[in-house]
Amino acid sequence: MSDLPRSLAELPITASLPWLRGLQQALEESISRDRLAHAVLIQVSPGLGGGWLARWLAARLYCGAATVPLPCGECLNCRRVASGEQPDLTLVQPIEESKEIRIDQVRELTTQLALTSHAGGRKIVIITPADKLNRNAANALLKTLEEPTRGSLLLLVTGEPSRLPATVQSRCMRLIAPRPARAELVEWLRAQRPGSTDWNAVLEVLGDEPLVALGAESGTLEALRHETQRALEAAARGGLDPVETAELWGKEAYAERLACIEAWLLSRLRDWASGRAAIAPRAWFEALDETREARQWADTPINKPLVLERLLWRLGSLESAQRKRSQPASGVNRAP
Ligand SMILES: [Zn+2]
Repeated sequence: MSDLPRSLAELPITASLPWLRGLQQALEESISRDRLAHAVLIQVSPGLGGGWLARWLAARLYCGAATVPLPCGECLNCRRVASGEQPDLTLVQPIEESKEIRIDQVRELTTQLALTSHAGGRKIVIITPADKLNRNAANALLKTLEEPTRGSLLLLVTGEPSRLPATVQSRCMRLIAPRPARAELVEWLRAQRPGSTDWNAVLEVLGDEPLVALGAESGTLEALRHETQRALEAAARGGLDPVETAELWGKEAYAERLACIEAWLLSRLRDWASGRAAIAPRAWFEALDETREARQWADTPINKPLVLERLLWRLGSLESAQRKRSQPASGVNRAP
């Protein structure tokens, strides 16, 4: 996600994200042994805390306190990292309109890295999400990675490293976090925002990106999820107009609707797997594949109502196909 919600920037450096603790320990060890590479690829999506971890590392390296554990979160350097005012720290993000990181941004950071640091220490650049580097920008970055400036540290944050050229990936030290369980994320969100929010429903719509969930309108998403589910139940009974619904959903919250459809199909398939529902799984798996493919293209200028309409017709036929299958043969033998 390129436009990070405000809450993401506001999550304090001293926060605790249990699923990133292993990586923090690994970084701590690299620092204490003076083995930190000049470029680190943080393979954690920004919504799962990849950007937060990069800022934590920057604060850890700049922190002026002598306390343990570091960073303290209170000294001038920590506060400057948190507010984005640390003069030796540069944040590179996609330019809003283009949604990509461009070559002139990379050239600028290369120039900045070549300058002497303000405090005489390290110069750090955080690139997030790094998969938004366009081809020219990635090529320009490669040069910087091949000939690093002394005392510089490049932090590339991405949940989708495969979108980066292999040449860029191979020149970075890699940090990979194990994928946290949904329950762990829900528990963490409950601790951050005590209340009645159904965080499971929110994550179902947004994906397992708890930091995005914190910045989202959770009530709206919960309502959207419930409304979509009701509509899908109706669709499955043949009680929904696919054309009208597709027209409506294609205009608003398209990606979120697709996420709801995927979650709904998955829950039905889980019911089938545990013996609680009798369905014809093949057709449901095919519908799941189609939904997932649609989600992959959600950001592109495709004909969204048309994609949804096709999908809703398919969903509508799932249960009628099932009913036909489960009805006893009518006894009418058609002539061949
Ligand atoms: Zn500090």
